[in-house]
Amino acid sequence: MSLSRREFMGAAVAAVAGAALAPGLRLIELARARSPEEAATRLQRWGLLVDIGKCHDCDVCVTACKTENGWYGHDRPATDPEWIRKVTLKDKQTGYVETLPVMCQHCEEPPCVDVCPTGASFKRADGIVLVDKHICIGCRYCMMACPYKARSFVSEDTTDQKSYAPRGKGTVESCTLCVHRVDAGRIPACVEACNKDGGKAMVFGDLKDPNSEINKHLAAGPSTPLRPDLELNTGVRYRGV
Ligand code: SF4
Ligand code: SF4
Repeated sequence: MSLSRREFMGAAVAAVAGAALAPGLRLIELARARSPEEAATRLQRWGLLVDIGKCHDCDVCVTACKTENGWYGHDRPATDPEWIRKVTLKDKQTGYVETLPVMCQHCEEPPCVDVCPTGASFKRADGIVLVDKHICIGCRYCMMACPYKARSFVSEDTTDQKSYAPRGKGTVESCTLCVHRVDAGRIPACVEACNKDGGKAMVFGDLKDPNSEINKHLAAGPSTPLRPDLELNTGVRYRGV
């Protein structure tokens, strides 16, 4: 789909989608990120490394994300939003069980962006994949296209929204890599919480900076994306899976 068609469709549905959002909440930071003077740059690519060997049987990352971004899925039915979830893997031959946190993998070639008919699903220059709530029509094509089940549909009334993470009934959402924090020079809430109360299993940083902490960790041992066969070059990598 050409950009001009996307822009046309986006303009046509913006009023409808915007009506589902709480008054006063605008995706100011996200809109700026797509403008010519955006802070996001191709000189950086933000990523996460999750070391499963250090990942405890806890949920501090999930709780931190929920608190930071104001979603409720962890305490409610599985159909409700869940930006990050702990997934249990079991080796059928040995019975060995491990758990790992799974969130949007911030794919370099995101299928969710490819299928979005309005352009609401987009990738910033620095690799962060987001949803513009003002032009999301809730068609859920992106949810079907995502191989990691990383996206959720908001079917409930939203309350206690954060100004930096607006949510909207009838739209789709997923991990933003805590873009509001990243743009302020901070690390994501899940990483901060894991470093404080978890197993120090998560490292955040710039995958394009050879001297970044994440690249030093990546150089120190093997790592893999989830489903490497899909060749999506995800920004989230795992060690020990
Ligand atoms: Fe899109 Fe899913 Fe990839 Fe995230 S993990 S960028 S939602 S396809
Ligand atoms: Fe949640 Fe932020 Fe971690 Fe993404 S980076 S899972 S939005 S806390």
